[in-house]
Amino acid sequence: MYKIDKLNELAKVVAAKRAENAALEPRRMTAEEKDDLLAHFHPDYKQEEFTVLSAGVNKGDKVPTQLAALLQGKSRISASDVDLSAPDYDTDVLIIGGGGAGASAAIEADEAGVKAMIVTKLRIGDANTMMAEGGIQAADKPNDSPTIHFLDAFGGGHFAAKPELVKKLVTKAPEAIQWLNKLGVEFDKEADGTMVTTHGGGTSRKRMHAAKDYSGAEIMRTLRDEVINRGIPVVDFTAAVEIILDENGKAAGAVLMNMETKELLVARAKTVIIATGGAGRLHYQGFPTSNHYGATADGPDRYRLS
Ligand SMILES: Cc1cc2nc3c(=O)[nH]c(=O)nc-3n(C[C@H](O)[C@H](O)[C@H](O)COP(=O)(O)OP(=O)(O)OC[C@H]3O[C@@H](n4cnc5c(N)ncnc54)[C@H](O)[C@@H]3O)c2cc1C
Repeated sequence: MYKIDKLNELAKVVAAKRAENAALEPRRMTAEEKDDLLAHFHPDYKQEEFTVLSAGVNKGDKVPTQLAALLQGKSRISASDVDLSAPDYDTDVLIIGGGGAGASAAIEADEAGVKAMIVTKLRIGDANTMMAEGGIQAADKPNDSPTIHFLDAFGGGHFAAKPELVKKLVTKAPEAIQWLNKLGVEFDKEADGTMVTTHGGGTSRKRMHAAKDYSGAEIMRTLRDEVINRGIPVVDFTAAVEIILDENGKAAGAVLMNMETKELLVARAKTVIIATGGAGRLHYQGFPTSNHYGATADGPDRYRLS
């Protein structure tokens, strides 16, 4: 732990370098230098850490070995642990996950007049959505179009994305912004009500729609209110641990686990929507260490911060 004397000493070092650092205009890296940097430090570039899935709908996809071990691992429960003939919940649409995607799906299902329920591991809104800051991109200004947005997004992803998914993203984005706006999300606006749009990373047009620097919290606040106001049932502190399949192999519900009591429950549904977000907390390749983010003996010294 640092002592106050040591911190004061470091503060003096920072102050002495301030003018020099403020005037510093770092040279832009070339494409080769960027690739070299990524190859040394970015987990996605460590080929020996990847494997190919041997089962399931994503069979053949290359994924981190730890994700493969989870997806292809043995179930945490056995068939005799649950009684499928006596479900604890019966619904039309079972939505797993209480973030932005789950709440939006529930609102749309309710709007369509079907019975929906959300089960979520923590509380509704305890989700990555709440933490997003920058905003959402949507090509809705006269100088922009979903086609230009597609080129920015697909190129920005080094052409590795699934084009049909990028197409869906860019063509549906303006509609999604309007949907959120009508629900009451307080997007940044000009005095005349026009949406303020700014540049995001890698964009050739200003298409970022934000609510100050708490866009996700504002979106989640609005969606959560809407779910609650509509009386859509939310079962919180409950994780889905298995998807139940019917005789045709179609999802027909889920086995749920109460996170506090570890009790297993069965939810039967005509449709199951998995809205459990990404997998960032899985910490693929272990926790970040200096090997990932700082220069060490096995990395090039020229990237060391001084
Ligand atoms: C710090 C931060 C900043 C970000 N900034 C931006 C940004 O500026 N712009 C942008 O577009 N994106 C941003 N993102 C990404 C964006 O927030 C996410 O892509 C998006 O919110 C995902 O929404 P989601 O509903 O799919 O998932 P989440 O919001 O993660 O919701 C998933 C939900 O599923 C629940 N869950 C998970 N597993 C289970 C289970 N087995 N059973 C039951 N429930 C489960 C979780 O508890 C959670 O409630 C940011 C993310 C972070 C973390």
